[in-house]
Amino acid sequence: MALLDIDGLDAWYGQAQILRGISLAVDGGEVAVLLGRNGAGKSTTLKAIMGLEVERRGRITFGGVVIDRLPVHEIARLGLGYVPEERRIFTSLTVEENLAVGRLPPRGGRAWRHDELFRLFPNLAGMRDRPGGHMSGGEQQMLTIARALMGNPRFLLLDEPSEGLAPVIVETIAGTVAELKRRGVGMLVSEQNTAFARTIADRVYVIERGEIAFSGTFAALEADAALAERHL
Ligand code: ADP
Ligand code: MG
Repeated sequence: MALLDIDGLDAWYGQAQILRGISLAVDGGEVAVLLGRNGAGKSTTLKAIMGLEVERRGRITFGGVVIDRLPVHEIARLGLGYVPEERRIFTSLTVEENLAVGRLPPRGGRAWRHDELFRLFPNLAGMRDRPGGHMSGGEQQMLTIARALMGNPRFLLLDEPSEGLAPVIVETIAGTVAELKRRGVGMLVSEQNTAFARTIADRVYVIERGEIAFSGTFAALEADAALAERHL
């Protein structure tokens, strides 16, 4: 069984069913991209995995543990990190303080040290005492990822990490994803930016109206004329 394994996930906001039978599997050190247009259900999928906001039904296991009925803090403690689309950093706290807020006790594995995080995100190194509110969107995105890493996750859910960022920052984020992968961290990354998705993805899932419409390699997606037309 894969590190993160999802089988037949449905999700609702109130009476409105958004996800239908989502199944996907991602291993440690593997990067899966969830590709889909606005409103397709990408954020809802990641929220449903984390146990946030939505009503969910279906089987979700993480590291062999059934998590589909666990509350979000217990899921986080198992080593599943989540970087929301809205980058919820604390604007009045400094970079260092934001990182401290994200700290969780390491589970056996090695904990990320601040100096390692600053090597991963050199832009942040020079602004340790800067309030989060005085940072650019790209810097805030890096801080959000760095803060999630303070929880020493085995797996990260990244919700549209490239959204609204300058190309040079998107490149930095792609480098970060590659480095995390090298360290064995698995990732499920929701995206609309196909160029970025192509650089990072080992596997692609296409989501349309709350259902998985394709699963496979980027090359296979490109070879499917109808899907490629809609998504690439
Ligand atoms: P994506 O992240 O792919 O853009 P979302 O998962 O945010 O898509 O949204 C999927 C669908 O769920 C959309 O139709 C959206 O309008 C609806 N939706 C999102 N958030 C809520 C909410 N809090 N309450 C009701 N409907 C929502
Ligand atoms: Mg979204």
